Amino acid sequence: MTQSVNIIWFKRDLRLADHKPLQLAIAEGLPTVLLYCFEPSLLNHGDSSERHWRFIYQSLQQMQKVLRTYNLSIQIAYSEVIDALQTIQNHCNIKTIFSHQEIGNQISFKRDKAVKLFCNNNNIQWIESTTNGITRGLKGRKDFSKHWHAVMNEPLFEIDLNKLQIFNMGSILSNVSENEIFYNSITSKHSYIQPGGEQYAHEYMKSFLSQRVANYSKHISKPMESRKSCSRLSPYLAWGNLSIKQIYQTSLKSFVQNKDKFNINFFINRLHWHCHFIQKFESDCSIEYKNLNNGFDEIRNSKNEAYITAWEKGETGYPLVDACMKCVIETGYLNFRMRSMLVTFLTHQLWQPWQAGAHHLAKQFLDYEPGIHYPQFQMQAGTMGVNTIRTYNPIKQSKDHDPQGVFIKKWIPALQHIPENIIHEPWVMSEMEQKMYKCIIGSDYAAPIIDSKTAAAFARVHLWETKKSKNVLKNNAKILAIHTNRKNKEDDNTLQINFS
Ligand SMILES: Cc1cc2nc3c(=O)[nH]c(=O)nc-3n(C[C@H](O)[C@H](O)[C@H](O)COP(=O)(O)OP(=O)(O)OC[C@H]3O[C@@H](n4cnc5c(N)ncnc54)[C@H](O)[C@@H]3O)c2cc1C
Repeated sequence: MTQSVNIIWFKRDLRLADHKPLQLAIAEGLPTVLLYCFEPSLLNHGDSSERHWRFIYQSLQQMQKVLRTYNLSIQIAYSEVIDALQTIQNHCNIKTIFSHQEIGNQISFKRDKAVKLFCNNNNIQWIESTTNGITRGLKGRKDFSKHWHAVMNEPLFEIDLNKLQIFNMGSILSNVSENEIFYNSITSKHSYIQPGGEQYAHEYMKSFLSQRVANYSKHISKPMESRKSCSRLSPYLAWGNLSIKQIYQTSLKSFVQNKDKFNINFFINRLHWHCHFIQKFESDCSIEYKNLNNGFDEIRNSKNEAYITAWEKGETGYPLVDACMKCVIETGYLNFRMRSMLVTFLTHQLWQPWQAGAHHLAKQFLDYEPGIHYPQFQMQAGTMGVNTIRTYNPIKQSKDHDPQGVFIKKWIPALQHIPENIIHEPWVMSEMEQKMYKCIIGSDYAAPIIDSKTAAAFARVHLWETKKSKNVLKNNAKILAIHTNRKNKEDDNTLQINFS
């Protein structure tokens, strides 16, 4: 008789704690296949990069290490999920697939629909557990915060791995190590990028809540200092090494014990934002490609490839913009304000459509989370209609948040001899100064590709005019109804805070 098995399909939930699908599968008691698939269709998409897959592989390796002590293991396949499921079904009788709901990009959404069809055709039950307090198909925002807090206060899902019975598929599924080029790329080391895995996630959380949180709000906008004073938990959340509930509950304990209630509260608010944005995306996933408010479709339609390339490479001639881009390319991380500045430089100063830069930054961000990335991109680009329009002046940001140019000099060595009074605007140097400070503008370092002041003034006029247009105002009512709860003060605050 064919063996009946259950499957736990891991996606952006790479942990062994607070994991409802794992708990449910253990309770069922059937032999279970633990499955992760590196899916070629996702790997080859424009938003994907090696750093994401390396982080995932490291996370899986840490899980594997713990599982081995229980004589268990995950099958790590290089395969489309449907093909892997079909292979398993050819050898066994799949009864139930357990997974978390994924709020991913359009490709993963289509893949989920194909999996649903496969399950229906093969009489397989697919039980998807909710993720981080996000509700599928939510029609409006009423009670979102209340529901979120209720979920965050629920007990963690207890996992007893002693009771898990696994079913080993042997070499039937194509193992990731068989794809040599891919395997070599994800197993190579990269010293600047945060390592993946549950243990690292806990270390970052512990060091943040016990020490680093002290300067959290003070340094949050500073490109250099924020790297230590912010939690740096975003990649662990994006790939599910920790659940929001785990972080929320640990933070609450710190809140009770710690004197620094202001900073911990500041942090907990942002955990709420994380889910607030993903819920926004869940309610309208076309945000990945289209302006949320189509009243903005008429502007910024043509691309200037030379501008886009200069922005992507960090060669715009604006030191803080270029330093941020070079830093994120190398390290995978930037704080919120600098991410916002990069986007507004592209969309306001260079007057390019936001879509021209969304994939480039998705690839650089180790914490790439579609549900935050696309709504944030549109919010900064000003295409939501309902939010205020903000343009970050790259020179002012530089003077305010990197006054001595320490961050700039770290990422643009050509500027290292320039004194702090001119580092923010090196193009003002005379020929003699350029020689003296060993930096010839246009040769050692780029001349500015646009005049930021003129460009920002142009953008402000056009964006505000469009924002007041009939078309935008007409769509705003619909957007407000779906994405906000204007009667709920708490949700209102959440939206406003994000623009500061
Ligand atoms: C254009 C743009 C794209 C972004 N893309 C992503 C992305 O792909 N993935 C991602 O996790 N964040 C994204 N952010 C939000 C934010 O910049 C990062 O979450 C934050 O910088 C991560 O650093 P941290 O973990 O040290 O944050 P902390 O300040 O320590 O915050 C803790 C957690 O709260 C959440 N959070 C903090 N700020 C925000 C915010 N403004 N919006 C939503 N959630 C927030 C994150 O989960 C973060 O890990 C984006 C912001 C912008 C402007």
